[in-house]
Amino acid sequence: MYEQLKRLIPIKWLKKNEDFLRRVLALRYKGNTVYCNICNSNFSKFIQLSNNELLCPKCGCLPRTRKLLSLLLQEQGFEDKNILHFSPPKGFRKKLDSIAKNYITTDYEGEFDADKRLNIEAIDEEDNIYEIIICYHVLEHIIKDEVAIKELFRVLKPNGVCYIQTPFKDGEIYEDYSITSKEERLKHFGQDDHVRIYSVNGLVGRLNNVGFEVEVLYLDEHESNNKGFSVKETVLKAVKKG
Ligand SMILES: [Zn+2]
Repeated sequence: MYEQLKRLIPIKWLKKNEDFLRRVLALRYKGNTVYCNICNSNFSKFIQLSNNELLCPKCGCLPRTRKLLSLLLQEQGFEDKNILHFSPPKGFRKKLDSIAKNYITTDYEGEFDADKRLNIEAIDEEDNIYEIIICYHVLEHIIKDEVAIKELFRVLKPNGVCYIQTPFKDGEIYEDYSITSKEERLKHFGQDDHVRIYSVNGLVGRLNNVGFEVEVLYLDEHESNNKGFSVKETVLKAVKKG
């Protein structure tokens, strides 16, 4: 129902009226059974998407975004760190703006509201300035991903951490740059603007190649958790050892 409506209504109109629409939607989910840590709200349930992911009725955040916040909150003193976030979900950006002192957001394609418009293949920033970078669901869109990874490494401070997530498959990375049409990309890579599907080991290898040390976080949750976290989630914590 939610996804059908989204397809029917023009994106521009949706964006303009998003806050109002979400408030109305949230009323339908009034209750105290589940909790969203991004907008600090309780609901009777989350909105279940066709891929089974649970969407917050009020702030629209996905499970991985709620999980990301819980990860960051475990980092000591993260509120005081210089943070750069690529393509920030709206609700998350609002949350971090309220709790982190030096939180900078960027989006190149203009899909997300952000402070800057940095090109990840040539980041217009000095070396060694960020202590945390959040790069979720970005690299699988970038043809020159190895250039982008080098750039992430360059702008990170020594001992800085880059949190990375993409869709993952088993085995090897699957990429084929002769596949360029939207239809074919959807068929091969699962989304019409993706250019590859990584495997965990494949992406770890590319990160290691530029000097990152990588910890793979396999974050399991009980299926009845009340925060709408996914049962299984994988995040790469790439550290620029100083
Ligand atoms: Zn929420």
